[in-house]
Amino acid sequence: MERKWMKNIRKVVPYVPGEQPKGTDLIKLNTNENPYEPSPNVKRYLECDHKYRLYPDPTADVLLSQLATTYGLSKDQIFVGVGSDDVLAMAFMTFFQSEKPILFPDITYSFYDVWADLFRIPYEKQKVDEEFRLVKEDYYKENGGIIFPNPNAPTGIFEPLEFIEDILKHNQESIVIVDEAYIDFGGQSALPLLKKYENLLVVQTFSKSRSLAGIRIGFAMGNPVLIKALNDVKYSFNSYTMNEASLIIGSEALKDQEYFEKTCNLIIETREEFVAEMKQLGFSMCPSKANFVFATHKEYDATEIFEAAKKEKIYFRHFNGERVKDYLRITIGTKEQMKQVISFFKNYMNKS
Ligand SMILES: *Cc1c(COP(=O)(O)O)cnc(C)c1O
Repeated sequence: MERKWMKNIRKVVPYVPGEQPKGTDLIKLNTNENPYEPSPNVKRYLECDHKYRLYPDPTADVLLSQLATTYGLSKDQIFVGVGSDDVLAMAFMTFFQSEKPILFPDITYSFYDVWADLFRIPYEKQKVDEEFRLVKEDYYKENGGIIFPNPNAPTGIFEPLEFIEDILKHNQESIVIVDEAYIDFGGQSALPLLKKYENLLVVQTFSKSRSLAGIRIGFAMGNPVLIKALNDVKYSFNSYTMNEASLIIGSEALKDQEYFEKTCNLIIETREEFVAEMKQLGFSMCPSKANFVFATHKEYDATEIFEAAKKEKIYFRHFNGERVKDYLRITIGTKEQMKQVISFFKNYMNKS
């Protein structure tokens, strides 16, 4: 039978999230989650009585207020969403309305081309250089908008503020989005540039540095005109994106700055120790300011290591792209977990 309605169905190639294997005794280093529990504040508040019977506050005021305090902004400079994936998708819908192509790196977060295709936004990927660095001059041409992560994924490479500012200086006519999902692991946020550049949007998340990937909170910071535009799109789509529990949990997690700093520093310290040991084993890695490293070895095949590790219940991430297929992305877990990863490699190298 001919199904004529098939032609009315939107066809997209979806983003493929990292595997979420079941089980308890695994070392899960494949999706850049935080190995530490969220702030103890969070648990305390989840156990209280809340008004789950009612619709949540559509303005997400408790969370916005606390974000404003934490980042020294006013509430009309902040937009919140269901993870930064939701915020970024809204931003693509809102800001990339030009007929000119938007620009982003060829090696980057693999959701960008998915959204661009979904929303029918033209795009042009810009090649990162031999060392996987962004080439800023490639972003000086005419465009309909720019987006890149800083630190970049899956490399972990961080570019300093002057680099970001150069891109902004050359792009006063389009909106520039900096995706700072990993900024709390040693980078420097572009937030101070908001004062100078009205076309800058900085996006961050609670998923990595605040150990709340399961709760789904992301936020964008920018000038009130941009934030209002995002809210107009949001209210045209779903007024209640943020559920009551996430509003409370998010604001409570933010209040515990001390815990946040402690766990971020622990991950940074663990990363540096891990990188040193990996070098001893002959791995090369991009310089990382994220909670993961992107590693390759001249003598050992990445796919084979990936499979062998999985047999030992150690999960890394491997991408198939031509330029990255020799690499493994390894999330930084606890010190104990990273010790086990190093022993796995030592074992593997003796055996193979
Ligand atoms: C993890 C990640 C995100 C999205 O994270 P959420 O859990 O949706 O907040 C966005 N951008 C990059 C580069 C990421 O790595």
